Amino acid sequence: MSWIDVSMRITSDMKVYKNREEKKPVFTTSATFEQNGVYETELKMNLHTGTHIDFPKHTIKEGETSKGFDVSKLLRKVKVFDMTSVVDSITKEDIDSLSIGEDDFIFFKTRNSFDKEFNFDFIYLAKDAANYLASKHIFGVGIDALGIERNQEGHPTHDALLSQNIIILEGLNLKEVDHDIYDMVCLPLAIDDVEALPVRVLLKKNKTKK
Ligand SMILES: [Zn+2]
Repeated sequence: MSWIDVSMRITSDMKVYKNREEKKPVFTTSATFEQNGVYETELKMNLHTGTHIDFPKHTIKEGETSKGFDVSKLLRKVKVFDMTSVVDSITKEDIDSLSIGEDDFIFFKTRNSFDKEFNFDFIYLAKDAANYLASKHIFGVGIDALGIERNQEGHPTHDALLSQNIIILEGLNLKEVDHDIYDMVCLPLAIDDVEALPVRVLLKKNKTKK
């Protein structure tokens, strides 16, 4: 069984949150063979574009940033739950019978993984589900949407998780992944003291299933 790359491709025309132009990566050629003897590219990109981690500072003013975050904690087991039957938001009722416990990193696979264009009605995580996950003291939660909530006033889903220092992973592509336990390799760029970090995420089925 090989590794499955569940990260979004970063291109100038990639899917971005609410199709906002300013969220699209901009690639500029900054050196050419003719002028500089080498070729170089400059990239301007919002840290919330593509597959990325949200740290508490994203919605909480005094919240923690990427500073001092132990990235080795992201090399670990994750539980992928198939939520493709959910049509609006993932609620507590949808998840309270699932095996979710302390320190788990869980991913929700939804219909979002099959959207080619940005879907304004994307599946999100409801506040009651976020509170439930926070009460379980999970380590992190990942979703195949560019936002873990849609238009919730005061972003209660983010706050419920980030106030408990629960890592949020957004922009996953879980099309090729089923309901199962996986080993994860997830490494963010080494940028210190920011509220979000782009990541590359690979999953491989966990053989021990513990
Ligand atoms: Zn984000």
